Amino acid sequence: MSTIVLEVSNSTMTKIQNHYIKATGEAQPPGSLFLAKISDCTITGYKSGKVMFQGKGSQREAEQWQSSALKENKQKAKRQPSHEWAPPSNIENQSIIGSDEVGTGNYFGPMTVAAAFVHSEKIPLLKELGVKDSKYLSDETIKQIARDLIHTIPYSLLVLHNEKYNELQQAGMSQGKMKAMLHNRALLNVIAKLRGTAYDGILIDQFAIPDVYFRYLANEQEVIKDVYFSTRAEAVHLSVAAASIIARYSFLTEMDSLNEQIGIILPKGAGNQVDEAAATIIATKGKHLLERYTKLHFANTQKALKLAEQKKH
Ligand code: MG
Repeated sequence: MSTIVLEVSNSTMTKIQNHYIKATGEAQPPGSLFLAKISDCTITGYKSGKVMFQGKGSQREAEQWQSSALKENKQKAKRQPSHEWAPPSNIENQSIIGSDEVGTGNYFGPMTVAAAFVHSEKIPLLKELGVKDSKYLSDETIKQIARDLIHTIPYSLLVLHNEKYNELQQAGMSQGKMKAMLHNRALLNVIAKLRGTAYDGILIDQFAIPDVYFRYLANEQEVIKDVYFSTRAEAVHLSVAAASIIARYSFLTEMDSLNEQIGIILPKGAGNQVDEAAATIIATKGKHLLERYTKLHFANTQKALKLAEQKKH
């Protein structure tokens, strides 16, 4: 038995429904708008906008509607150039929970994820505190602003230390999945802190396409689905800028304490200086320490091992 499925607009759906109205019975499968039966074809229209033609006559019946369905789908694709997750144009002045992460590209130091709620009424105060895109702020300024921020707005901060990071990574978890889980958890924490205070939306600084983000969260018990995604979201709403500052503050503080513990200034990023510092650690303190201080799967590990070997000779 052949089956053809078309996706149509509401107006075409109504036309199809009217066209088969005499053949429409009372039976209505779950999620459907109507079920019509003619001698050699069953036609089911669904609320989702899909129409299913089943039976010998399906080709003939579907053909009548195919061209309008095709035209409509093309128009729809034009209307939604980016994705359905884009924030509204007036988001800047709304009350938003934003989230961002820091440290994911750093060989040394943890991954930190923060979510923060900024009520529209607090926007002027945050601007006064100096909250803006952290790309334009020095580490010292970030620390200063963050110390004020954490007493000013509801937030959640999660730190994934490298020991745990390596454990998850070696068990087969991707960094993207770790990020998604931490963002989702931080957002849930902030919503819980709000105790029912109304907000206009949630904005995630986009690190994966939305489909992939939600696939990462497929096994989580609680997933916040009503979210916006935007790249460079720190510039889209102050809540993401605030989250980013808090996450960076935490990353910097963690780095300070790692430096103190190990007695070396650990460089940021994942460049040559990082290889050198890691080689020094291997040579002077032993390679086992890398597990605690670094993201082991980065290429830096192999480079540092080589450098340390060369230093011996
Ligand atoms: Mg980000």
